[in-house]
Amino acid sequence: MTTPTSKCDVLIVGAGPAGMMLATWMARMGITTRIVDKRGSKIYAGQADGLQLRSLEIFDSFGFADRAVKEANHLLEVRSLYTYGMM
Ligand SMILES: Cc1cc2nc3c(=O)[nH]c(=O)nc-3n(C[C@H](O)[C@H](O)[C@H](O)COP(=O)(O)OP(=O)(O)OC[C@H]3O[C@@H](n4cnc5c(N)ncnc54)[C@H](O)[C@@H]3O)c2cc1C
Repeated sequence: MTTPTSKCDVLIVGAGPAGMMLATWMARMGITTRIVDKRGSKIYAGQADGLQLRSLEIFDSFGFADRAVKEANHLLEVRSLYTYGMM
């Protein structure tokens, strides 16, 4: 029995935004990557619903910040309610 093998330049551990962004930039530079993640299922609740300015700057470096701004729901005011230190 032979064990299947594959080659890549960089192994990225973690398919969160940091790993995906790293893989995307490396692909642009011709570096092949493989991403592995210990999570066995997709994420069912949003974990990045609000975009920070830095994210938009990174989107801009990919050339689609304008589209993200146009298509986004713009929050003009945010209020957080806390009870006994919990959100
Ligand atoms: C409920 C919630 C709501 C949020 N809302 C927002 C928001 O509105 N706006 C915003 O900007 N941010 C939000 N965040 C924060 C945002 O999700 C994080 O800042 C972002 O996901 C961090 O990205 P990351 O790639 O560094 O890490 P992660 O997204 O945590 O990704 C790391 C990945 O690595 C994997 N991993 C870890 N260890 C191993 C290992 N040993 N082997 C294999 N895989 C491994 C994990 O399974 C995971 O998939 C929210 C977070 C939560 C929890």
